[in-house]
Amino acid sequence: MTIRTRIAPSPTGDPHVGTAYVALFNMVFARSQGGQFLLRIEDTDQARSTPESEKAILDALSWLGLDWDEGPDVGGDKGPYRQSERSDIYRKYAEELIDKGYAFRCFCTPQRLDELRATQMQEKQPLGYDGHCENLSDEEIAKRLEANEPYVVRMKVPREGQCQFNDMLRGEISIDWAQVDMQILLKADGMPTYHLANVVDDHLMEISHVIRGEEWINSAPKHILLYQYFGWETPVFCHLPLLRNVDKSKLSKRKNPTSILYYQRMGYLPEALLNYLGRMGWSMPDEREKFTLAEMLNEFDIQRVSLGGPVFDVEKLSWLNGLWIREELTDDQLADRLQQWALNRDTLMAFLPFAKQRMETLSDIAPLGSYLVSGILPITAEDLQKSGFEQDQLIEVLQFSLWRLEAIQQWQRDNIFEALKSIADALDIKLKPFLAPLFIAIAGSSSSISVMDSMALLGADMSRARLRYAIELLGGVGKKKLKKMEKAYQQLS
Ligand code: GLU
Repeated sequence: MTIRTRIAPSPTGDPHVGTAYVALFNMVFARSQGGQFLLRIEDTDQARSTPESEKAILDALSWLGLDWDEGPDVGGDKGPYRQSERSDIYRKYAEELIDKGYAFRCFCTPQRLDELRATQMQEKQPLGYDGHCENLSDEEIAKRLEANEPYVVRMKVPREGQCQFNDMLRGEISIDWAQVDMQILLKADGMPTYHLANVVDDHLMEISHVIRGEEWINSAPKHILLYQYFGWETPVFCHLPLLRNVDKSKLSKRKNPTSILYYQRMGYLPEALLNYLGRMGWSMPDEREKFTLAEMLNEFDIQRVSLGGPVFDVEKLSWLNGLWIREELTDDQLADRLQQWALNRDTLMAFLPFAKQRMETLSDIAPLGSYLVSGILPITAEDLQKSGFEQDQLIEVLQFSLWRLEAIQQWQRDNIFEALKSIADALDIKLKPFLAPLFIAIAGSSSSISVMDSMALLGADMSRARLRYAIELLGGVGKKKLKKMEKAYQQLS
C-alpha cells in the first residue's frame, strides 16, 4: 500500500503554528516511508474562508521548508484540491446516503432547533438533534420539497452502543453513540459540512493515514460511520497531541503568538522553527535538540510521539534559534538572511517617505526607524499609563482596538484608520488622546510617524502582538473581566 497523508487547512485566518506542526508530521511520516503528502484546502465555510488566508498559509508552509506532492498550487491527478471546487461531488454522495437510508432530509427551522437547544439546556440533557425528521414519510418529504421548503441533509447515527476504533498512538478508543450528534452533512445552501467533504475527499484522494490534531477525536465516530455507510475502507487514524502554552492550556494567541507570520517577522529562522516543531512531542533517538529536516526524515518513527501535551515555549524556541544562528550560518550567510528578512531596500523605501520629514542627518534613520525592525519593544506599564487614561479604560482602549484590528482582512492604512476611528467614536473619545496609548504600544514613543502608518509598515502580526504585549504589561485581562469586556464590545455601535 502506498502511504498517503494530507494536511487540510481551512483558510479562515493567519497561518497557525499548529497547522505547520501537523503538516510536518504528516510529511515526514509519508516521505520517510516512500509515500506522498498532499495539501487540500478545506474552504467549505464560505463566509469565513478567504483567498488571502489560503495564500498566507501556503506561503508560510513553504517558507518553513515544507512541500507537498499534490495541492491546489502544484496540481495532481486527484484534484481539484480546493473543496469549494468540488461541491457537485459532495452533493452526489449525500444523495447516495439518502438513497441508501443512511441520511435524511431535515426540514426543521432554525427556530425549532433553537427551542430544542434551549429545552435541552434547561433540562440538562445532552445537546443534539432529536431525530424529528428522521422518519418522515415519502409523501411528506415530496410535499415539502414541492413547496420549496429549505432543508439540510443529516446523517443517521445509532442511539445505542459504542463506536470503537483504533488510534495509531492512543490504541483502542471508544465513544458512546449517544454522544454523537446526527451531523448535518449538507447545508441548506447545498454546501457540504467539514465532515462529509473531509471523508469523501480522504477516500477519493486515497489517503491511507489521517494524522491530525487531537481536537478531532470526537469527530472520528462520525467519519468512521460515513466510511461504513459508503462501504469504503477506513484510513488509519492518528491524533497528535495539541500544542500547549507554558501553563499547559491549549495554545492560544492571547498567551503566545500563534501566527507563523509573527515568527517570520520576529526573525526566527525557518529551519529553527521547523526544528522546534519537530520537537513537539517527538525526539531524536539520541535526544538531541537541534536537527535538520533531513535528519528528522532519516530517524522518524511516529511511535516515538509522546502524548503528554507538548509545550510551545517561545523562550526555548529563541534559544534554539540562537544555536542555529551561531552554529549553522557563516557570517556571509547571516548577512544574506538579514537582508532577506528586513534589512533591505524595500524596508527603507517603505519608511523613507515618512522618515525624510524628520531627518536632519542620515544617522537619524536609526532612532527613527529602529522600532520597525525590532520585535517586542522594551516599554513599561508606566509608559502606557502616561497616556492619561485610568487603568480600566486604558486596557479597554487597547483591547477593543485589538479586537477590531483582528477583524481586518486587508491590512492597509485606511482600513486600520477606519477600525480605530470607529472604536474611538463608539467610546466617545477624541482620536488624538485615543491613539496615545497605541503610539506607545506600537512605536514605543508618541513622537513617531502616524500610528496607522506604523502599523501598516509593521504588518498585522507584529502590530497585534505588540498590542497584546501592552495589555499583558498592564496586568492582562482575567477570564471574568474578559467576558464583561466582550459584552461591552459587542454592544458598541
Ligand atoms: N479542515 C480541518 C482543520 O482545519 C482539517 C481537520 C482534519 O485534518 O481532518 O483542521
